[in-house]
Amino acid sequence: TLTTDWVVAWLRESARVVSEQRQYLIDLDRAIGDADHGENLDRGFTAVVKKLDDGDHPATPGAVLKLAAMTLMSSVGGAAGPLYGTALLRAATSLGDTELIGPNEVAGLLTAARDGIVARGKAESGDKTMVDAWTPAVEAAGTAAMAGASVAEVLAAAANAANAGAAATEPLIARKGRASYLGERSAGHLDPGAVSSGLILQAAVDAAG
Ligand code: ADP
Ligand code: MG
Ligand code: MG
Repeated sequence: TLTTDWVVAWLRESARVVSEQRQYLIDLDRAIGDADHGENLDRGFTAVVKKLDDGDHPATPGAVLKLAAMTLMSSVGGAAGPLYGTALLRAATSLGDTELIGPNEVAGLLTAARDGIVARGKAESGDKTMVDAWTPAVEAAGTAAMAGASVAEVLAAAANAANAGAAATEPLIARKGRASYLGERSAGHLDPGAVSSGLILQAAVDAAG
């Protein structure tokens, strides 16, 4: 069972991996966007870590996620900031005042996050966006939780599915976001937001281990 400490560790590990992969995400976005995805996320998660370091963080998992959501929304420009912000805000809302996060809560918060991304960005599966990482992650997490998997197993199933989903964006033609301006020329490249979503969900696994 996970607690607020896991949420804090998840956010810190996300910041670490986004900073480490900053140039890679920039390069992916250079191919089909405007070369700022790594910079946007690095700025946002650096601001989140600064909030966590500024004195005491909130007590509950949901309150920490909400703080991170607000920080991402206010510090990240571009499409990804509001999308990740909405995702974390919906995840926070799904938890309410819950203090202990088990397999069903993990599946529930991932579902809420994905639903928030879809509500905000209106992308469907196959549009070559971060939804193509999140939807397989949500499905894998739900299946694992239903089968009685542990919280670590549910997270691992989600991260593995997200990374596979991100890899599968390569041949797709973008139908949402900046990459859609390229039309057929967007094919043959990974979607940067799907890749960063895989990294962030892998960070959730690593934070739980
Ligand atoms: P911007 O495109 O404004 O520069 P970023 O580069 O930070 O923003 O983020 C780009 C990523 O945002 C894309 O790779 C894609 O995954 C995601 N994205 C863009 N538009 C949408 C949308 N409508 N729905 C879901 N994800 C989207
Ligand atoms: Mg960009
Ligand atoms: Mg931009």
